[in-house]
Amino acid sequence: MSGQSLPSKPLLGQMMERPLLVSTLLEHAETTHATSEIVSRRCEGDIHRYTIKDAASRARKLANLLSRFGVQQGDRVATLAWNGYRHWELYYGVSGFGAVLHTINPRLFAEQLVYIVNHAEDRFIFVDLTFVPLLESIKDQISRVEGFVILCDEDKMPETSLPNALCYETLLANEPDDFVWPEFDERSAASMCYTSGTTGNPKGVLYSHRSTVIHAMASIGEEALGLASTSCFLPVVPMFHVNAWGTPYSAAITGAKQVFPGPGMDGASLWELIDAEQVDLLLGVPTVWLMLLNHMDSIGKKLESVQNVVVGGSAAPLSMIRDFQEKHDAFLIHAWGMTEMSPIGTVNAHSIHMESMPLEERYRLQAKQGRPVYGVEMKIVDDDNRELPRDGEARGRLLVRGPWIISGYYNNDDRSSFIDGWFDTGDVATIDENNYLTIVDRSKDVIKSGGEWISSIDLENAAVGHPELSECCVIAARHEKWSERPVLLATRQEGSQISEADVLRYLEDKVAKWWLPDAIVFVESLPHTATGKLLKVDLRKTYENYLLEKA
Ligand code: AMP
Repeated sequence: MSGQSLPSKPLLGQMMERPLLVSTLLEHAETTHATSEIVSRRCEGDIHRYTIKDAASRARKLANLLSRFGVQQGDRVATLAWNGYRHWELYYGVSGFGAVLHTINPRLFAEQLVYIVNHAEDRFIFVDLTFVPLLESIKDQISRVEGFVILCDEDKMPETSLPNALCYETLLANEPDDFVWPEFDERSAASMCYTSGTTGNPKGVLYSHRSTVIHAMASIGEEALGLASTSCFLPVVPMFHVNAWGTPYSAAITGAKQVFPGPGMDGASLWELIDAEQVDLLLGVPTVWLMLLNHMDSIGKKLESVQNVVVGGSAAPLSMIRDFQEKHDAFLIHAWGMTEMSPIGTVNAHSIHMESMPLEERYRLQAKQGRPVYGVEMKIVDDDNRELPRDGEARGRLLVRGPWIISGYYNNDDRSSFIDGWFDTGDVATIDENNYLTIVDRSKDVIKSGGEWISSIDLENAAVGHPELSECCVIAARHEKWSERPVLLATRQEGSQISEADVLRYLEDKVAKWWLPDAIVFVESLPHTATGKLLKVDLRKTYENYLLEKA
């Protein structure tokens, strides 16, 4: 039987096409969840609290301010800020206005910061007190920025060498809150974030209003983050790194109470907030939770209010899954995603078959990165881009596609990650028969330490400049606190007695301090492929436990 051909003209549905804009999330929140609370630890050290109604009014004042600054639709307005209420206002004020919110990651080092501010052509930067010195140190290299707005009260304004530095609170106090959010094409850019999780310069990822809203809608359900109006959540995942996993937007849909930690990410500060605000959902990278778990052990207390902990950014260790469950009665929801994916890809949420599993078996299942949220399609492929079976055994490069996944980097014509409508994540994975993803390796040459990227190639290039080293190879070794840390394998020039301390001293002024390798191993020779490339896969296998064994 031949296949039925489709009619040449489809019968279109007759539903409205209202644009999916970030401002619609705020309007919904203001009318439906006006009294929902936002609690923040401020840079100034105190706790601030107000409601969504207050936040919405201030976001409108901010939009009036942008208009007075002469900001146009599509212009980039940057932030350099912790998780806090003012940052939340910027999320809505800037994107709602039609400008593009560029959240800058302060953990990038100076050279990268200069690169991204100039590449994004940021017109204004809104900055927390903490990061003023950082901007001062690069101000001459980012001279196209027209003004800096410091996120503080008038009496906290610092002495600063930043040109055109203004006080956020003073500016807002002078604005009316009568702004009407404009309507425009939902495909317009709403925000952007640079990722350094690839080699070379950081690359810009431009989220659209449409992708942001769809991602927020998809991420609230029980199969994803499980956010409800009754939830009280604390995102430690930064608002400067993939929009805190989209939670500032999903919170507006559900009206969940938001608790922002500001600069206080140590175990004691987190516990204080969790306990005081009765937080039931935590979100962040493993390094942060390790600090919290250690703190709780040291004070001998239980995280009574916490029900779920979403862990992503790096693999959640089995011991962490067990500790949360057995010591704190909290379920660890392991998730995987990327800056390029807004970021949610897969989530290992509660599932019916977990209920009847023996605990140890359930923990092993929870250690997998989870199943795709509806909207994300994924597959693994071999070197010829042929799809591999979902049998939990075959390992392949992980490709994804969907409405909140990147289709091209901002002002960058590198198309190497885009294959026939799919995005190559740079992760190597298996997928089992129930569509559970397990990340087993990485094809991109980077190290993820405490949720932040270190380029092994940049480190190798810096080290190999030493006249007494002949070849260098940097690999990611597993680390109990930081998930991964760099280990440098090097061959010495003939006759050289150069020591580990000499190499570290040499590297000190060439790379950021937190990039310095945790160990330097001198070897006789390094293995190569037939084409002369370092055989990193083999070296990674040999040295992956080097730091754990050394500890
Ligand atoms: P980023 O764009 O900085 O958020 O980093 C995304 C990358 O972090 C992914 O491509 C993975 O390499 C890694 N990653 C994120 N979540 C996980 C996870 N749950 N397990 C292992 N690796 C992860």
